[in-house]
Amino acid sequence: MYDEKGQRYLDCINNVAHVGHCHPDVVKAGAQQMEQLNTNSRFLHDNLVLYAQKLQATLPSKLSVCYFVNSGSEANDLALRLAWQYTGHKDIITLENAYHGHVSSLIDISPYKFHQLSDAEHNPSVHVAPSPDVYRGKYRADHPDPATAYADEVKNIIEKVDKKGAAIRRSTCCTGAKHVREAGGVFIADEVQVGFGRVGSHFWAFQLQGDDFVPDIVTMGKPIGNGHPMSCVVTTTEVAEAFMSTGMEYFNTFGGNPVSCAIGLAVLDVIVKDDLQGNAVRVGRYLVSQLEKQKEKHSLIGDIRGCGLFVGVELVRDRVKLTPAAAEAQEVIYKLKEQHILLSADGPHRNVLKFKPPMCFSAEDVDEVVQKIDHILTELEDALGLKLHSVSDKENEGGKRKVGVTTASCLMQSDEKKCKCFPTFSSALNIIFNSFS
Ligand code: PMP
Repeated sequence: MYDEKGQRYLDCINNVAHVGHCHPDVVKAGAQQMEQLNTNSRFLHDNLVLYAQKLQATLPSKLSVCYFVNSGSEANDLALRLAWQYTGHKDIITLENAYHGHVSSLIDISPYKFHQLSDAEHNPSVHVAPSPDVYRGKYRADHPDPATAYADEVKNIIEKVDKKGAAIRRSTCCTGAKHVREAGGVFIADEVQVGFGRVGSHFWAFQLQGDDFVPDIVTMGKPIGNGHPMSCVVTTTEVAEAFMSTGMEYFNTFGGNPVSCAIGLAVLDVIVKDDLQGNAVRVGRYLVSQLEKQKEKHSLIGDIRGCGLFVGVELVRDRVKLTPAAAEAQEVIYKLKEQHILLSADGPHRNVLKFKPPMCFSAEDVDEVVQKIDHILTELEDALGLKLHSVSDKENEGGKRKVGVTTASCLMQSDEKKCKCFPTFSSALNIIFNSFS
């Protein structure tokens, strides 16, 4: 990115400019279609059909009905309507710290936002399951079976509610899905942040859970149009038919317009042409390995987790007490900005440095940002008198390292089986997914 004076910035934030800012193919596709036609005639335009076909080819065959909308919020709101209609129930299970959109139906299921509401304003049909975070969550790495423990939390909610319910969750946490389905609920995978190859090893983050796992509804947004307002809900024929049976026709003026679909098609083409999914595997792996080296040096780095080009670095003042280093994270962000690097901090404590750069991020970009983080952390730790040598730090490190190494090697080898069965992986992703911009 460049500012108004032409100063170059390295963008580590922008998961919307998925294939790169102003990618010429995307710009061209949009401009050409704008020159020709952009309208809503209520008849099908070829671009819409072509886009739906191309998108569907990336998904399990059961997910075959597409609804085109204009933002992640609209997609999730429609997903709720589909789920409510199909199940006949209104209960929703969501994860603590989750964010699913800005409209009222979604603020209700977004603990990231609704903790600011009064008790009276809380929707009684919304149930919050703990985020499967084995670093600072309810069940941690020292728990004998955190995956089952977190899934059982979902089961307990269902038993308490004693009704059939829908569940909206982010795509990386599927252990509770079995219980939701057994109760007649549906599983909504919100891929708004993590879809379109960002996790590297797979095109969709829910696929990290294995080929046999297919959500009932998938919502997409942000990267789908590389910045152009476009989004999509994809579901099964069963869910779509139940929705249609209400007789309420679904209509959306801008959703699926020819320009948006031309842009969406160009984005899908560029992902393949520029091998951006492969790049996410390679550069993401390199980023994690370089950050792991920093963790050896800097006591402020408590945990590194992620997948592909979606990586979080959790800063803590104390590796034993896990005291969130929120002010320090802000300091890193501001110092980086002074040095023309854009990065954001997020998570419930705002102490997680969150990497979600455009997918063309390179190894050289990794070197640039990691080197600068190294300098900033060195200065910060000197100023704070923080060192990595206390006995308790080492002991804790010893205990954690086993887990850390498993997690890291799981990421680095892109070993799907390990990723699937080792709970740290999905839970690690969740804590960084819990905060959005
Ligand atoms: N779901 C997730 C996971 C998101 O990150 C966001 C946006 N931050 C949304 C939904 C809402 O998308 P939008 O801002 O396009 O309405």
